[in-house]
Amino acid sequence: MMQQILDDIAEQMAIETKRGKVADYIPQLAHVDPSQFGIAVATPDGQVYAAGDASTLFSIQSISKVFTLTIGLNKLGSELWTHVGREPSGDPFNSITILEYEAGRPRNPLINAGAIAVVDAIMMGRQPKTVMTEILQFVRSVSDDDSIGFDHKVAASEMQHRDRNAALAHFMKSFGNLEHEVDEILDIYFHQCSVAMSCEQLARAGLFLVSNGINQATGVKVIKPQQSRRINSLMMMCGHYDGSGEFAYQVGLPGKSGVGGGILTIAPGKGSIAVWSPGLNPVGNSKLGTKALQLLVEKTGWSVFAN
Ligand code: GLN
Repeated sequence: MMQQILDDIAEQMAIETKRGKVADYIPQLAHVDPSQFGIAVATPDGQVYAAGDASTLFSIQSISKVFTLTIGLNKLGSELWTHVGREPSGDPFNSITILEYEAGRPRNPLINAGAIAVVDAIMMGRQPKTVMTEILQFVRSVSDDDSIGFDHKVAASEMQHRDRNAALAHFMKSFGNLEHEVDEILDIYFHQCSVAMSCEQLARAGLFLVSNGINQATGVKVIKPQQSRRINSLMMMCGHYDGSGEFAYQVGLPGKSGVGGGILTIAPGKGSIAVWSPGLNPVGNSKLGTKALQLLVEKTGWSVFAN
């Protein structure tokens, strides 16, 4: 049943002609072939259903913000909220405007400024390499896959073109809201964004958010149930930046997008869904990925607003 649904969606996506625009502000991402599409669903019993280019690696980009948020909540608990807020921004992912009005405190952990603040909070005086290793170990552990790694070319490309993110970080630091050196924080942030994963791996990585913080397939308790619920609510409210309202309306599930064209979506109690298609809509979220998720929720009835 699920396999059939995914095969049908992949078939339909293959013939779409309007595929959006591949992100080119990170030159290393501009080379990705826009004709690709993958989808995978992992269920709590450990099954993974997949179709299309579901085993092809892509840059997870901002989807990584869900993982660093989880690390941050595990490490700091509610103290994390002294560094970053939890309101939707209604602004693009790399916007600086609200930062000035709100004294350099980012609105939420899923926009760039917020994710940079989370990295600063979890560094705790440690070297960038140590923190990068911690993030990678976390991603490998939740995915139950030690082959996952950074794409150093993507990280270097982002570091080279870091002006906008560096501006956000320096601006926050000028308000005293960042403790560490901006370039060290950004080095970690760009490495977390560069993590390369497939839809199959990413769907598995989301399983802990499907079952109240526990990955039922591996038995690993990743985070407290209360925090898992809150991460899902942040994904719903903020996971697609100024496209979050539209995503909630069209899909009705917590989701986090990345400019690599991936989206991780959680259907609590049911499954973790990863889609990938590199072409983006005007607000920077995967065009076909969103479309595929709309089809999936129509066919499965999965929603947090209905049963
Ligand atoms: N690394 C990207 C950036 O900082 C992440 C943005 C995204 O995926 N929306 O610009």
